[in-house]
Amino acid sequence: MKYLSTRGGMPPKTFTEILLGGLATDGGLTIAEAYPRLTRDELAAWRGMSYAELAFEIVRRFADDIPAADLKDIVERTYTADIFHSADITPVKTLEPGLFILGLSNGPTLAFKDVAMQLLGNLFEYVLAKDNAEINILGATSGDTGSAAEYAMRGKRGIKVFMLSPVGKMSPFQTAQMYSLQDPNIFNIAVEGVFDDCQDIVKAVSNDLEFKAKYKIGAVNSINWARVTAQVVYYFKAYFAVTAGNDEEVSFSVPSGNFGNVCAGHIARQMGLPIKKLIVATNENDVLDEFFRTGVYRPRPQTQHTSSPSMDISKASNFERFVYDLVGRDPAVVNDLWKQVDAGGSFDLSQTPHFAKVKDFGFVSGESSHADRLATIRKVYEQYGAMIDTHTADGVKVGLEHREAGVPLVCLETALPAKFEETIREALGRAPERPAGLDNLEKLPQRFEVMRADAEAVKRYIVAHSV
Ligand SMILES: *Cc1c(COP(=O)(O)O)cnc(C)c1O
Repeated sequence: MKYLSTRGGMPPKTFTEILLGGLATDGGLTIAEAYPRLTRDELAAWRGMSYAELAFEIVRRFADDIPAADLKDIVERTYTADIFHSADITPVKTLEPGLFILGLSNGPTLAFKDVAMQLLGNLFEYVLAKDNAEINILGATSGDTGSAAEYAMRGKRGIKVFMLSPVGKMSPFQTAQMYSLQDPNIFNIAVEGVFDDCQDIVKAVSNDLEFKAKYKIGAVNSINWARVTAQVVYYFKAYFAVTAGNDEEVSFSVPSGNFGNVCAGHIARQMGLPIKKLIVATNENDVLDEFFRTGVYRPRPQTQHTSSPSMDISKASNFERFVYDLVGRDPAVVNDLWKQVDAGGSFDLSQTPHFAKVKDFGFVSGESSHADRLATIRKVYEQYGAMIDTHTADGVKVGLEHREAGVPLVCLETALPAKFEETIREALGRAPERPAGLDNLEKLPQRFEVMRADAEAVKRYIVAHSV
């Protein structure tokens, strides 16, 4: 399997060659030259598999330059009941016949990003050890991504993590989750500023190419191909869990921000999984909903802060991968479209034959507001006795709008309610339960460095503490 750039300007590379990188060298996103297509026999054989077995079968088709025995070992070490607190790894909960919640948030940081990030941590360590190489991961976070990355990379050989977060801007739970890590390879930098200041520092440091090369600066952001690949697995796992045979179709509703999660669903469908609809749910930041409704992709100058904060994006960084498929995998078209986006503009496919194909790819969408979130959390609690978080609520709200009789609907749970206590209290008048062992999280000693929003100061810090 070789990987290309959505903009056509990168020589073909292998999985491990693109594993540690961010954008392709021409500014595009890396993508598989073709999706592996499953036979009916393969799909039938996969039905009884455990999560780790399924992950091995799927990931090996994309990561075919990693020896099978090594990959098997990596996958088996990653997807354990010990780490994900469930033998199923991603258990399915039935709300009523035909309506399901796919539990993706039982990993160490209580959000779905753990499912892919835990694999990434082990893949990084494996590939770096082979070359006797090291990496300094630099990132910015407003909550979920940073903690998932830190819990995946903690204690890993050859890896140090420098994570910038805005001081005092995350919830006490999220802050404690990150800052209580005592592993010597994890560095929490609390920046005096907002998330955008953190993001700007990461950009400034990464744009200093000499510094970047000398200090081996890497990233684990949402465009990482291996993360998308790892997420393909749970669409298969859920499909098998809610169907009796491989002729049935299932729809999935996906709370979306950067389009990584639902992009994995798209890939599962292209591989031959019988998915009827992929339902893209957004919050008030509705750039994706607007595209799927109108054909206009119009990144916003500003992001709104909402009560489903992990979906607060103004530009969906993985979306280019889907558009590449939508326009018939023609990099010249993608180049043209993103020339407009990168210049701060938008594009409109409504009058092109490409937009008509959106429905062939199974995509529909919808938007959910703060009031919708509260109402959905209440409804699911009262009607089904299940507590869901704010992001999952966006998915359930939009999913139900597109539900069809006779087609099972699986709503992806992207975080546990314990992470978003304030809004749960607002909706239900009571606090969510915490998973065992986290009751005293906020009381644990914290380890972090407060710094001014100054890229040069961050560079000096990396130099002093790098691998
Ligand atoms: C990251 C995240 C999302 C959005 O996922 P994308 O892959 O960026 O679309 C949704 N919900 C939660 C809780 C998240 O952490």
